Amino acid sequence: MPPAPSVPSVAMDRRHFIKLTAITGTTAALTACGNPENQVIRFIPEDELVPGIATYKPSICPLCAAGCGVIARVMEGDAEVFRNGQAGVIRMGLAKKLEGNPEDAISQGKLCARGQAAIQVTYHPDRLDKPKKRSGERGSGQFVDITWDEAIKELAAKLDELAAANDQASLAYLTKPRRSRRLELVADLLQKFGAKAPVTYEFFDDEVLRRANAISFGSHQLPTFDLENARYVISFGAEFLGTWNSALAHSAAYGRMRQGKPGARPKFVHVDARLSQTAANADEFVACKPGTEGVLALALAGDETPENAAAKTGVPVATIQRLAREFSTHGPAVALIGGAPLAHTNAAFHAAAVNRLNQVAKTVNQPGGLSFAAQGNAVATRPIKEIVDAAPKVLLIDDVNPVYGTPSAMKMADALKRVPFIVSFGSFIDETSVLADLILPDHSFLESWVDAAPESGSAKAVPTKFGPVMRPLYDTRSTPDVLLAVSKALAKPIEGLPNTFEEYLNAEAKPTAASSPKPQAPGPMAWSEPVFDGDAGQYPYHFMPYASAQFYDGSLAHLPWLQELPDPMTSGMWCSWVEINEQKALALGIAQGDIIEVTSTQGSLRAPAFLNPGIAPDAVAMPVGQGHANFTRYATDRGVNPITILAPATIAETGTLAWSATRVKIAKVGDKETYDSLILFGGATRERPDWAHGRGDEH
Ligand code: SF4
Repeated sequence: MPPAPSVPSVAMDRRHFIKLTAITGTTAALTACGNPENQVIRFIPEDELVPGIATYKPSICPLCAAGCGVIARVMEGDAEVFRNGQAGVIRMGLAKKLEGNPEDAISQGKLCARGQAAIQVTYHPDRLDKPKKRSGERGSGQFVDITWDEAIKELAAKLDELAAANDQASLAYLTKPRRSRRLELVADLLQKFGAKAPVTYEFFDDEVLRRANAISFGSHQLPTFDLENARYVISFGAEFLGTWNSALAHSAAYGRMRQGKPGARPKFVHVDARLSQTAANADEFVACKPGTEGVLALALAGDETPENAAAKTGVPVATIQRLAREFSTHGPAVALIGGAPLAHTNAAFHAAAVNRLNQVAKTVNQPGGLSFAAQGNAVATRPIKEIVDAAPKVLLIDDVNPVYGTPSAMKMADALKRVPFIVSFGSFIDETSVLADLILPDHSFLESWVDAAPESGSAKAVPTKFGPVMRPLYDTRSTPDVLLAVSKALAKPIEGLPNTFEEYLNAEAKPTAASSPKPQAPGPMAWSEPVFDGDAGQYPYHFMPYASAQFYDGSLAHLPWLQELPDPMTSGMWCSWVEINEQKALALGIAQGDIIEVTSTQGSLRAPAFLNPGIAPDAVAMPVGQGHANFTRYATDRGVNPITILAPATIAETGTLAWSATRVKIAKVGDKETYDSLILFGGATRERPDWAHGRGDEH
């Protein structure tokens, strides 16, 4: 949060409110710090403010695809701002705290820990405050400030070059796969210019499930699960109480299910190779061989014999028979799939098999089952492979960091270096934006018009849009508005676009066909073997990266509240760790905190061991999120990135990354005493090695 420097007011002229009388002052926070002679500008307030009175304004959490509605408490306060190129202090309405919006069908008045920390995006000390142009080598991090007029002119000139060469298809736009009118506007603009559809990338991509749902149910989207009314829930790897899909909405529904009803005792079974946060909530944890989860689902559906399923999955026949009996008799019952089972090379089989189980149990569109909120047709997008294989000439990158979020073997940084001109709309320097030629920082979500069309979390479609909660702190601009400005600055301006994103959001949306489930008759289901990179003899462990409860896919590692948040299962904070089966570790002479080298065919990394009694003996797991080479003072050079050593294996049906398809070997390379890098929070005692104090800890 911005400090409240004590700077005396000066006489001001409202007609020239940003060209204010300079004053001499001292402040602990401004650039004047330590130089009392430096002048600090105090701008005239732009709002009518009532001292001490809070107002509450709605917005949308941008930190994952769930699109939870939030309420920001706004109060007056002094903030360091940029106005017309000048730094100064202003008294303005400032968002002080975020909570869930009780009126919102997704968040239902709740907010996850990540959502709570979202406010730090706005006040982050390393946030980019103005447009920048690269001045050194690509990746050197050398940029100079430029004005918005210069930036828009330069980007428009690059697009004019493409148009003059009739090469508009060489413009590409890369972003996250989010359902929103913002993405619709981008797609519309690209199409009108003559470019191809936007490219989307996300490490934890559920496209294979959407595709399976399109085949099984006629809905190319993620389902909403009516957990509140379910009496039997079986999850195949889906971390629906932590990070998967619309986790907040499903956690709330799960909580209501757990309240129980007279005469009904709901049961939750979790199938996985690792005891996750969600698995720890289950009544029963079923350990299943990685890559075979769908076989178990087929056995529960009666489409596979318990004996065959037991042979493949490692789950005892008696357990399979009992689970099948329970699932068919303790209805309403519903099955979920997510996480690692959706990231094997045979993920399409697992998704289809779990869909079969839901079809056989007739859970679709039933109370206690699954449903799909009617939605318009999703924007057509392209996979990232298209721009890796054939570099565009101009690449616009919006809120995605593929250099961090793809395996080293994909050589993403090299692919981006082949792009002649890159524009990033990022608010921070990260591994990807550092490669940009221009950085045109977006407003924070609290300073912008925002919208979301959540695909899951509510049985009904609940598109939302909200105006800014507060005025911008810095010389940033809303990315959709920048794109619209560029479209007008072209030699041949693009016709048929709105003037502003606000205008676009407030115009009536084009009606699109609603999709609703069309259950299909169960048919034969072909098993396909999972393919793992690395010979099982040489690389005996399945490598299981998982979405961090704090950092999700690593995009939130720059938020210090989340670095400080202990992991719910290990209590790890500010660090990375490798989870290894406790018994296996003892047999190998590995103790908690010992340094382990994890090696795949693609490379190796080192991290401290965390002994976990709930992980399969032939698996090791690591949270994704740390190991940034360049991502603000809080995340840079902290821990290691497990994505780097993944094989670039893909799921054939979707072309998306099979991030659960890598085998590794491990070796102890140091002990806890020598390399004390496992930072755990235990009860009220925070164990913290000396080296961890330093960069970033003063904040
Ligand atoms: S689940 Fe958490 S991080 Fe995701 S949108 Fe909701 S509050 Fe934000």
